[in-house]
Amino acid sequence: MKVRTRFAPSPTGYLHIGGARTALFNYLFARKHGGEFILRIEDTDAERSTEESVQAILDGMRWLDLDYDEGPFYQTERFDRYREVVQQLMDAGHAYYCYCTPAELETMREQATAAKQKPRYNGFWRDRQDPPPAGVDPVVRFRNPSSGKVTINDAVKGDIVIDNEELDDLIILRSDGTPTYNLTVVVDDMDMQITHVIRGDDHVNNTPRQINILDALGAPRPVYAHLPMILGEDGKRMSKRHGAVSVMQYRTDGYLPEALLNYLVRLGWSHQDQELFTAEQMRELFTLDAVNRSGSVFDNKKLDWVSQQYMQTTDASRLAEALQPYMTERGIDTRHGAALSAVVDVLRERAKTLVDMAEAARYFYVAPTAYDEKAKNKQFKQATANVLQDASVRLAELATWDAATIQSSLDACVEALGIGFGKLGQPLRLAITGGTQSPSMADTLALMAKDDVLERLATAISVCQQAES
Ligand code: GLU
Repeated sequence: MKVRTRFAPSPTGYLHIGGARTALFNYLFARKHGGEFILRIEDTDAERSTEESVQAILDGMRWLDLDYDEGPFYQTERFDRYREVVQQLMDAGHAYYCYCTPAELETMREQATAAKQKPRYNGFWRDRQDPPPAGVDPVVRFRNPSSGKVTINDAVKGDIVIDNEELDDLIILRSDGTPTYNLTVVVDDMDMQITHVIRGDDHVNNTPRQINILDALGAPRPVYAHLPMILGEDGKRMSKRHGAVSVMQYRTDGYLPEALLNYLVRLGWSHQDQELFTAEQMRELFTLDAVNRSGSVFDNKKLDWVSQQYMQTTDASRLAEALQPYMTERGIDTRHGAALSAVVDVLRERAKTLVDMAEAARYFYVAPTAYDEKAKNKQFKQATANVLQDASVRLAELATWDAATIQSSLDACVEALGIGFGKLGQPLRLAITGGTQSPSMADTLALMAKDDVLERLATAISVCQQAES
């Protein structure tokens, strides 16, 4: 049987880290088995679902390159189908109308609490033949088996056994005719022929109910795999308090999607002690048995480490492509001057994220509008004007413009002036970049147009001339 998995987010907020990991595991499992991965938007909660959240989820999936084979399917487009299944359950005696009023249900809850029992529906209308009370719109409840046990053969947690006695008859259709979560999930998993339900373990309590409904419908049970939750560094469930939880925030912060996926795959899954995985390796190696049973802590330092590894090793053209939007956002026009793929190669060692890199790459395209104040006071003296002037003349004369030739020319300059390299290198760096950090000057200059270099030198020379001696 072909493996079919699904990611089924409710669009009540952005795509968060936990959701992205669930999507990733479903995606990987499907890919590993040559199966299909389906996206289903569970938007039946009209009050909490929004268009923006749907869009945020789709954007997050696209950014992470989690491509799905079918969908997105929207539950709000399937209400007729859900009602049809409810009718089918009613006809087969697996569901019934319940006319209890909210006040009656409240009394039921109070009585259960007083008797130190779990508040639950007591089955009042389960077998009642009385004529329905006037003026009450009924709900439909599922007739849960009253005895026996349900066993979830969880692919991560092992067998979980629940007594049917613990499960009450849950509402599957509200009095306004809208279906409830447990019903829609079951109908969809059945109709979409889902073979593996991989989801957060916050759903583990729903699973026995869903299994009972599937059984009543005569539908096959999928394999369930409940993923342990993601914890913040304080050991509590990951939430907004722990900082960025929206996937797109990581894009804003300059993480490569490949790096975030690599980080996420290790969040609750392992393969020996390997930390770095190409997308292809993840698809080949992923298994549910290697998913941890306990929660995993989201570790920002480790994410930064993974990010750094990707910054250092990602192919230059891919890195340039990923960097481009960050340059555009900063209003830096990269169409002229240094090739971005060459710039990333000289900057990759020092950059932790694409944001770091975009900031560091600015001077390749834009002349400094100001100089680092401290460095300027220290470096730009009247005497520096002569040093920069000498270098400028030499650079202007070069017929070949590459790092080696530029380096020889700068070496010749310091030799002729009888100064150490720093006496040229530091003011030159300030003149070109406006700051004190950059890759080697020869590498940096070689990537820039000679005219731009000479122009920046001319500007710096006039600043030096006006400085104190
Ligand atoms: N819509 C549910 C959620 O976002 C997931 C349901 C499921 O995976 O079965 O939590």
